[in-house]
Amino acid sequence: MPITAVVEKNAYEAAMENFDLAAEALELDDNVRNMIKSPERVLTVHLPVRMDNGKIHCFQGHRVQHSTARGPAKGGIRYHPHVTLDEVKALATWMTWKCAVVNIPFGGGKGGVTCNPKEMSQIELEHLTRRYASAILPLIGPAQDIPAPDVYTNSQVMAWIMDTYSMTKGFPIPGVVTGKPIALGGSLGRNEATGRGVFYTLQSACEHLGIPMKGARVVVQGFGNAGSIAAHLLDSNQAYVIAVSDSKGCIYNADGVDIPKLMLYKEKTGSVVGFPGSEPITPEQLLSLECEILVPAALENAVQGENAETLHTKIVAEAANGPLTPEADRILEARGVFIIPDILCNAGGVTVSYFEWVQDEQHLFWEAQDVYNRLERVMKTSFADVLKIHLTHKVGMRTAANMLGIGRVAEATVLRGLYP
Ligand code: NAD
Repeated sequence: MPITAVVEKNAYEAAMENFDLAAEALELDDNVRNMIKSPERVLTVHLPVRMDNGKIHCFQGHRVQHSTARGPAKGGIRYHPHVTLDEVKALATWMTWKCAVVNIPFGGGKGGVTCNPKEMSQIELEHLTRRYASAILPLIGPAQDIPAPDVYTNSQVMAWIMDTYSMTKGFPIPGVVTGKPIALGGSLGRNEATGRGVFYTLQSACEHLGIPMKGARVVVQGFGNAGSIAAHLLDSNQAYVIAVSDSKGCIYNADGVDIPKLMLYKEKTGSVVGFPGSEPITPEQLLSLECEILVPAALENAVQGENAETLHTKIVAEAANGPLTPEADRILEARGVFIIPDILCNAGGVTVSYFEWVQDEQHLFWEAQDVYNRLERVMKTSFADVLKIHLTHKVGMRTAANMLGIGRVAEATVLRGLYP
């Protein structure tokens, strides 16, 4: 979904361009390159749903398994009016490299339904979710493909999918999805895992660059699950979150927005707009604010060639998937901006999803601190692995992360050989 009106490249084209850059840097054999580049399976489903007014509305959904070379496909489900098959294919591709970067035994997948959940009742959402779950049933399962929440889906949506899947099998199978409610086999720490992972990678980046987190100015685009938790942890560690936005607008406070109060305010009013003590600014102003850390945490293509020049930040921490186009990458890298790429920065979510799946499979649940400690270890080790490639091969952080992830998927593919 383009945040700005004109998109240089759609997300899938951008994912393919970034793949080629990393494959070149890895000097990957052409046969292996062709084997791992494209999605393994693509399913498009037609979803008739009875709406509250009695009419039947037909939605379209997709589930894409990009790779199962290293394990079952893994990736969230997005509900959004602008969902397209190409977007889902891009998100599935990034999931493959992401799981490999943090070295968890999953491949990559993603799902999406073109709908506007903000205009649907809970009953309509439940019916749509159950119909979608039934339609993708042949693909999903704890050993095959494990969905999770993404934009505008949440733990309740995961509960409906878990129930639909379990009812068809005749017994409860919590491991079919992650990001479930705790009462249904969810993991402590999953809800805040993506934002927490963003925070850990930012700690590593600040240490590497010699930028103190204390007093750092932070701008967050997208105050949802990923953005709000990252903002909260940064705020708790004495950074100043000076501007925040959501789909309805942007707010600014040079002295730092009170993040715990803003979280309560957004819960109550549904938006950050009008938060007392803040002033409204435009999305363009938000992105061009002078700051140490910019966290795009909304959707793809937030920063493109046309607005990359206007950014005044030292670090971009990609909590969102694909917020920078390849052209924006080139401009920002040339200007010396340090980018923590999405497949590293936001990998905390899938890492704790993996922990949840392990707990479900073992029927043995961990304490929150245990989850946080393991997550911190994974994120900081992965950051160090990517940084090492960045420094030794003299490539950008995105290409370095792609080299790590694609290299691991290539290795698994070669070891498995070609069937039949
Ligand atoms: P969410 O639905 O909780 O939040 C999305 C937020 O973005 C909302 O506050 C929405 O108002 C805001 N938004 C939408 N359009 C906007 C715009 N044009 N400008 C500013 N804000 C806008 O979703 P989320 O789960 O936090 O996901 C956000 C991003 O993080 C997505 O790119 C997603 O793929 C990525 N991500 C999420 C997870 C996760 O575990 N939730 C994991 C990895 C990556």
